[in-house]
Amino acid sequence: MSYIQGETGDWEVVIGLEVHAQVISNAKLFSGSATEFGAAPNSQVSFVDAAFPGMLPVINEYCVEQAVRTGLGLKAQINLNSVFDRKNYFYADLPQGYQISQFLQPIVGKGEIVLDLPDGTSRTVGVTRLHLEQDAGKSLHDQHPSKTYIDLNRSGVALMEIVSEPDMRSSEEAGAYVRKLRSILRYLGTCDGNMEEGSMRCDVNVSVRKPGDPFGTRCEIKNVNSIRFVMQAIEYEARRQIEIIEEGGKIDQETRLWDTTKFVTRSMRSKEEAHDYRYFPDPDLLPLELDADWVEDIKKSLPELPDDKKARFIEDYKLSVYDAGVLVSEKSKADYFEAVAKGRDPKLASNWVTGELFGYLNKAGKEIEESPVSAENLGGLIDLIADNTISGRIAKEVFETMFETGEKAADIVEKKGLRQVTDTSAIEGSIDAVLAANPDKVAEFRSGKDKLFGFFVGQVMKATQGKANPAMVNEILTKKLKG
Ligand code: ADP
Ligand code: MG
Repeated sequence: MSYIQGETGDWEVVIGLEVHAQVISNAKLFSGSATEFGAAPNSQVSFVDAAFPGMLPVINEYCVEQAVRTGLGLKAQINLNSVFDRKNYFYADLPQGYQISQFLQPIVGKGEIVLDLPDGTSRTVGVTRLHLEQDAGKSLHDQHPSKTYIDLNRSGVALMEIVSEPDMRSSEEAGAYVRKLRSILRYLGTCDGNMEEGSMRCDVNVSVRKPGDPFGTRCEIKNVNSIRFVMQAIEYEARRQIEIIEEGGKIDQETRLWDTTKFVTRSMRSKEEAHDYRYFPDPDLLPLELDADWVEDIKKSLPELPDDKKARFIEDYKLSVYDAGVLVSEKSKADYFEAVAKGRDPKLASNWVTGELFGYLNKAGKEIEESPVSAENLGGLIDLIADNTISGRIAKEVFETMFETGEKAADIVEKKGLRQVTDTSAIEGSIDAVLAANPDKVAEFRSGKDKLFGFFVGQVMKATQGKANPAMVNEILTKKLKG
């Protein structure tokens, strides 16, 4: 349990997250308009999205299917009967004057998400519900000095709001929750999880309490759009609340914003100013009734999800929990690894993928899809190590060139003459030369200074440009020095 130290002792942070995830679908939730990101303002708006009088919403079956698929991926209860409600409020970028959402009867009920924590342990967080709703338009305040423009492209785009139980107890857990949820959504193909483009946004609910006490009053930090910001906002907000309580104050339930330049949360509105949305069932839409067989078909079509894949990697490839977790975090990484591991030593494959490859990709700011080294070529490099053509050390050098040029390992080894020397007499020759050049060190070694062995190995490797087979160098050197 990770507590925060205050003036008056330990404090526990309690966190619940509401994540808005944009559904991957070519058309909007209730209209046929396109949903592509980055289109010219107001180029993807139908009369329904612009709320022209007399227009009627028509449910997009594919968006419903995506919500069901997501619910199944979260091992959640699928509600065969759900209802769309109007959530009434006025805002310039909401021409209908209400958002169509789901309130009392959402399409998906209780589920769960297993968190993979940095220390290798897991923890299950409850999902309260998932409901479908429309996104609003966007107000553009930076296009004109005295006017605000409205872009309705986003108006009516399908969102899934995924609400968690207040089960998280640290910023790390909240970060792990968003990462895991995003990973599941991407595996399912129901949301691209792109937080910079706003496809995934978090409302972060934070309260603090003394361990064992009932839950404290929470504040909700709205619209946080990166995992780093989620974690920073929680850290800040928990400390702010602890300070207030320790100074004898009390927490007002309010909505706050994360200021990404000042690194503080700021009040947006208090509970007293909170909206009364006057929810009621939307009379334009029939209750949503799902066929159990249809849901069952979707269930059968689900891909292998990260938790199952992780368990399989640990079982079949004997990978560590940590390595398996890293590899399954994205499907593209897992696929890459499996292509490399096929017919090869999986542990070696995992080391190369999670070590060298991910290290280089990270440094270059590249995704695995953009890797200059294909899975096939990395496999080729590992084969050269396995059949003793090159040593592990030379392989790292070869990999560096592969990453720069995209060339095949075998071609680089030939071109640069990096083949390992496994010829006994050649290695013996180098060793003899090194020993002859260092008679004083040889004498010291023989009189008991064992540590000098490493020095001789280093000299031989230097003389052979690192190409001597290390095992053979060790063996012959031992024989010659002790003999
Ligand atoms: P609302 O509908 O007003 O947003 P909910 O009860 O649905 O309120 O809760 C919204 C989110 O707040 C959920 O993710 C829930 O887990 C979280 N939450 C509720 N109580 C607390 C609390 N005391 N501390 C932190 N988070 C909380
Ligand atoms: Mg809320």
